[in-house]
Amino acid sequence: ATMPPLLSAIANAGRHGVLVKSAIAMERLGEVERVALDKTGTLTEGTPVVTAVRPAAGHDADDVLALAAGAENLSEHPLARAIVAAAKERGLDVPAAEGFRATPGHGVSAQVSGKLVEVTRPDSEPEAEGHTVVVVVVDGVHAGALSISDRLRPDAAEAVRALRELTGTEPVLLTGDNERAAARVAAEVGITEVRARLLPQDKVAAVREGAPTMVVGDGVNDAPALAAAHSGVAMGRAGSDLTLETADVVVVRDELFAVPRVVDLSRRARRLVK
Ligand code: ADP
Ligand code: MG
Repeated sequence: ATMPPLLSAIANAGRHGVLVKSAIAMERLGEVERVALDKTGTLTEGTPVVTAVRPAAGHDADDVLALAAGAENLSEHPLARAIVAAAKERGLDVPAAEGFRATPGHGVSAQVSGKLVEVTRPDSEPEAEGHTVVVVVVDGVHAGALSISDRLRPDAAEAVRALRELTGTEPVLLTGDNERAAARVAAEVGITEVRARLLPQDKVAAVREGAPTMVVGDGVNDAPALAAAHSGVAMGRAGSDLTLETADVVVVRDELFAVPRVVDLSRRARRLVK
């Protein structure tokens, strides 16, 4: 027997490095009328680096970085990995942590070297020039800030353009990051609609607002939005386990352009079904 169109589309998507979990998931990809993309790990590569350590007056840069790395050591967030890598690169010992807690879309806290260390998003828009900024608070006192930067995926602009053409709608950037860091990435990939400083539940609200929406994301913070989406797509390499399990579609090969490609495959298959 010849394979039903949606199943051969799934096989075809597999050859392009995309895991589509069911025939319904394959069908829904082509029904999408609006696309919402996460920033870190989705439009960017997801391997950020610390570009500056800025201790508050009276604090030492290495101490701030080492304490932050201690608190982040158990986090799987790309920012956490950047902070731990920066500490090791400077030859600092990463102290052990106790009582680690992560709050998706916000940051982490832990006891490190007998101190309560919190590494989180800033309360207000940071001064920094389009970087991600996290603040380090030690025993309730502001101890410093870290600037962190991530490279764009080489195919991000092209993928955004293809998604706009396929859906006829402007893609939206949804991010927990600050306004300026979001605006900078948006400008570089040609996105005009940006929502910044969103918590995971704000991403869900933004997804529910419009036409059938595809969400493309990678982090634990994206899992609720992926679940709420008409089609939830996870970037596989940077993706957290929860995100990969929640998604309808997993991009295994690390290319964003695979997303418009499978939307196109779905559209073709659905035309054959009808
Ligand atoms: P995005 O939507 O870009 O993937 P997140 O929702 O994961 O970003 O995070 C939003 C913001 O919360 C980050 O820019 C950062 O300031 C802060 N944050 C999240 N996780 C961490 C962490 N593990 N350590 C420090 N800060 C964090
Ligand atoms: Mg992300």
